[in-house]
Amino acid sequence: MSKLQSLRGLVDLLPAQTPLWQHIEATAREHFRRAGVAEIRTPLLEHTELFARGIGEATDVVGKEMYTFLDRGERSCTLRPEGTASVVRAAIEHGLLSQGAQRLWYCGPMFRYERPQAGRQRQFHQIGVEWLGVADAASDAEVIALAWDLLAALGVGGLALELNSLGSPDDRTAYREQLVAWLEAHRDHLDPDSQARIHANPLRVLDSKNPDTQALLAGAPTLGAALAPESRERFEAVQAALTALGIPFVLNPRLVRGLDYYSHTAFEITSSQLGAQATVCGGGRYDGLVQQLGGAPTPAIGWALGMERLVLLLEQRLAAGDWTLPAAAPDLYVVSRGAAAEPAALALVVALRRLGLAVERDCSGSAFGKQLKRAERSGAAWAALIGDDEAAAGQVRLKRLHQSAEGSPAGEERLVALADPAAVMAVVGGEP
Ligand code: ATP
Ligand code: MG
Repeated sequence: MSKLQSLRGLVDLLPAQTPLWQHIEATAREHFRRAGVAEIRTPLLEHTELFARGIGEATDVVGKEMYTFLDRGERSCTLRPEGTASVVRAAIEHGLLSQGAQRLWYCGPMFRYERPQAGRQRQFHQIGVEWLGVADAASDAEVIALAWDLLAALGVGGLALELNSLGSPDDRTAYREQLVAWLEAHRDHLDPDSQARIHANPLRVLDSKNPDTQALLAGAPTLGAALAPESRERFEAVQAALTALGIPFVLNPRLVRGLDYYSHTAFEITSSQLGAQATVCGGGRYDGLVQQLGGAPTPAIGWALGMERLVLLLEQRLAAGDWTLPAAAPDLYVVSRGAAAEPAALALVVALRRLGLAVERDCSGSAFGKQLKRAERSGAAWAALIGDDEAAAGQVRLKRLHQSAEGSPAGEERLVALADPAAVMAVVGGEP
């Protein structure tokens, strides 16, 4: 029989890795709580039509990257490639938009059939934010600050915020004409992908990865020059708000989103330490999407952050030794051996857990010396030893495994009644 393996690009997170993920998730949850942002959880599977309408057929995500299949009822289903469309669908479906502005966040796996490489998987994870029903320029800055400060709270340095304005739909219609005319005039010098996009998705040509195309585009008309005065004022207000918040940014006129429902603010947060997959977080205003998906016209803005790329950055910090994760050691490691000792140990372990102590039980039945070695390796401050002698005497021997912060030496022992978990707790749980 062939060896069973996970699918290509779908990754297991092993016990050595999950503490970092939990740290990120806990930091994010607390960060959003303080900002009054509520969590939303939507299904991983949706009608394919949601993404076709919500992301756009002309995009790589919908055109090439979706996991789509027929279910047993012959419905076309798709594993979500991103979160925004699902969140907007749920908000419309449950009438959330008539209850005032919705400030939402989500976190979870997304699926895209891409070529796997560092920072690019087929199942990956995003933390994302969607603010629905907010229109003011200050909200744009607030939403960006939410991403920037989350990354700061996680200690990720060396980030750059790139900012652009896509203007209003009218601005873009005007610009699109100028751009298409310019691209047509330079068609022969464009890479084949860009040539194919001239009419299908001309704005997307601006962020072509082809270096020759990029060099050529230096002479192209810019979107910034095509903005109407109101759009320009709005963009200036966003920039002023970011400056007032102490968030540095660079203007990038090539930063675009190809779809019509995007407008005004677009941004990316990149890291120089991620190689080719440099974008950690991307977002922007999508004032047309709610209506596109069948809701009332509703201004909206959001972002999504790639957790794998964030993990890569934090792993670099861990490897460089300039940061350590809060330890996940138990408070107490319980060692026991013998027919009377082992059930007594189990009873104590469960009683202590019920009192709130973090307790690990050695279930190997091996020699005390071996169990104690494991107790030391566990990082627990204390070990509890129960042999048949202790069990017969109704006692547990507590042994301090590491010198305490107050200077109590390792090796210190205390005898406590086995039937009195609170007394054990008083010794072991007494330390901060
Ligand atoms: P890229 O240009 O890197 O493909 P994208 O424009 O497709 O990014 P978005 O759809 O804006 O990405 O998703 C937001 C973030 O999610 C990205 O900035 C990135 O950090 C992360 N991300 C996107 N696709 C993947 C993937 N296949 N694997 C890991 N992370 C991803
Ligand atoms: Mg992509």
